[in-house]
Amino acid sequence: MLAEDLRIAVVVGHSEGSRSEAHAVDGIGEWEFQSKVADDAVRYLKARRAQVQLWSRKKGQSLQKVIREVNKFKAHFAVELHFNSITPPAAGTEGLFWPTSAAGAALAWQLAQDVNRVVAVQGARLPRAVGQVRSWNAEKGTPPIFDARGIQQPNGPWLEFLRDTTMPAVLLETHFGNHRLQHALAMLRRDDGTLGRAVALSLLAYGQKL
Ligand SMILES: [Zn+2]
Repeated sequence: MLAEDLRIAVVVGHSEGSRSEAHAVDGIGEWEFQSKVADDAVRYLKARRAQVQLWSRKKGQSLQKVIREVNKFKAHFAVELHFNSITPPAAGTEGLFWPTSAAGAALAWQLAQDVNRVVAVQGARLPRAVGQVRSWNAEKGTPPIFDARGIQQPNGPWLEFLRDTTMPAVLLETHFGNHRLQHALAMLRRDDGTLGRAVALSLLAYGQKL
């Protein structure tokens, strides 16, 4: 599909002043970090004449309302931007998708690979399948269990985006905020616009195949 025919939804994970978000080693939270990434990505997508809409929640605004609006917008696909944090620190990029969505998996592969190229750290400890895609383990039932680290978060509010959107959707963890080196790199790439551009280019690359 041509860029100008694409309808793309970009959502900033969490909300302003959110208590559910992770904070990086320098104290920046996911919402603040990804707000700039999302702005840059959207500007780039608009320059390519894609039909793109951005959602970023102020304090107290509900994710369900955003999801309803994304569905109404009839996006061809949607991405919600986050960063991860695990102990001990690992580094990489992760794309999460709903287990029954093959298109979601394909979009997750695209995004995780493209974004990882921008924030990859040599020799870092990797969570399983990093730089690629981690999926929900369908065998373990729905709501699913996070397969890579055995973290169980049934009904985690951040799952709603994957579950309730009506188009292929990916929750993208661009990097690990508590990995010093990867976060420093991600900050550089964010600040100079490289990260937002990588997200945009990746979305266009996926859209081109539709
Ligand atoms: Zn998050």
